[in-house]
Amino acid sequence: MKFKILEKLDLKAPCSILLIPVLQDKVLENPLVARIDRALRGVIAQLADQENFKAKTRQSLNFNTMGKIGPKRVCLLGLGAAEKLKHETYRRTGGLGADWLRKFRAEDATVVCQVPKGIKLTVGDIAGAVVEGLRLGLYRFDKYKSKDDGEPPYGGPGGGSLFCCDARGKVMKGVKPTLEAAVRRALTLAEGVITARELVNEIPEVMTPAELAERARKLSSGIKDLSCRILDEKEMAAEKMDAALAVGRGSENRPRFIELLYEPPKVPKTAPLFAMVGKGVTFDSGGLNIKAGEAMATMKMDMSGAAAVISAITIIARLGFPLRCAAVVAAVENMPSGRSYRPDDIVRAMNGTTIEVGNTDAEGRLTLADALSWAIHKLGAARVIDLATLTGACVVALGKTTAGIFGNDPGWLATVQQASAEAGEKCCNLPLDEDMKEDIKSEIADVKNISATRSGGAITASLFLQKFVKETPWVHLDIAGPAWAEKKRHYEPVGGTGYGIRTLVRLAESLAAKSGE
Ligand SMILES: [Zn+2]
Repeated sequence: MKFKILEKLDLKAPCSILLIPVLQDKVLENPLVARIDRALRGVIAQLADQENFKAKTRQSLNFNTMGKIGPKRVCLLGLGAAEKLKHETYRRTGGLGADWLRKFRAEDATVVCQVPKGIKLTVGDIAGAVVEGLRLGLYRFDKYKSKDDGEPPYGGPGGGSLFCCDARGKVMKGVKPTLEAAVRRALTLAEGVITARELVNEIPEVMTPAELAERARKLSSGIKDLSCRILDEKEMAAEKMDAALAVGRGSENRPRFIELLYEPPKVPKTAPLFAMVGKGVTFDSGGLNIKAGEAMATMKMDMSGAAAVISAITIIARLGFPLRCAAVVAAVENMPSGRSYRPDDIVRAMNGTTIEVGNTDAEGRLTLADALSWAIHKLGAARVIDLATLTGACVVALGKTTAGIFGNDPGWLATVQQASAEAGEKCCNLPLDEDMKEDIKSEIADVKNISATRSGGAITASLFLQKFVKETPWVHLDIAGPAWAEKKRHYEPVGGTGYGIRTLVRLAESLAAKSGE
């Protein structure tokens, strides 16, 4: 999808739908809305009154213009109150616009963004957020739907136009380059999030560890300064990744290890490396501790962390940020069979730590043990973040829309929290409570993969991971809640959400900016 930046708004120019975000209780005070209202002889004022349209958030007013102006339809999108406006407001408004484009199967769209007086957001912030929300909201996973299913798949409009104006409705001079850059970035980011959603939504029969590795290779090929290295299970065994291999042993679909490395030549090889580790369990049946009925459904999403880091590094490389960065995934499928690893087994991770298996459904942390070891000991990462759909306990604690965030270094933790706030991806800090280390003690190995108690499962899982990062600045995001949408919310349809990518890209951007200071 492409957006053309308009330098004037011609109401005679034809288009399928004109989308206008408007402030609450100020519908006709928007000079462009007033202009259209005049052209349509007061229709907007009448309709807004009849339909009690106040432009509250999520409220919209849409109508057919009956050929009286160029756009076939006009759709006013409620922004809510001016004092509450933030990036996310505009993203969600873009998502609301996408719903209308879908409903009318619009072939093209013109988006009109007015910059209200006295707000902190710039015209670039507003345009970028609206375009991002719009593109993300248009996505559906419909490749398995038959064409004759009544409603054929809608791929979104062929193109869009964007007009930005000041509070008086006047075009803003000299902002075209800013807008073009903001829109380019928003679309790159949105396409990356959609790529990750596609990986997560693909059925597990197709999305095996080998397929995930192959997609990582394809997605990274042809991107400047980005390299891809895949290890098969023999090579993984040679690297002593026995924890990850144990998890994958029960499946016919053999494990793979994925490493993507972005090293732009302008950054010295001695510069600190930022490593992103993603949990990549392509399907989690629980293994011999098999999950019961409902708990197993949607477990194709147990590689959401992997999808996020793979996609994020391709965006970071495309945007050309000056930093060294890696994405690391130990991809496995957790299945029960005669070859499966068992409760009571002891496995040795790459860094030599022995792990007593208490439950084969606590497998993510075993795969992460090796992936984190690789990032730190093989690649020499200076800073690490991992994203993992790790625990149901985290969902119980924080719900479906907020990730749990843990960190062993206050500065690094604060940097990640800042990035996530700017990206509009919610997370909440939970403690790495030293006193709870007791709960993952093993009598016969260095650590146990389940806790002695039922409480604080997200915390004990994090304490387990901490054993494999030691002093290296590390942040763990438990994304078991926000990685998957059970129902549509704003610009996220049902399915994989691509949570975390926007935070990772923002994080890489801030690290690159700091290193250049
Ligand atoms: Zn599991």
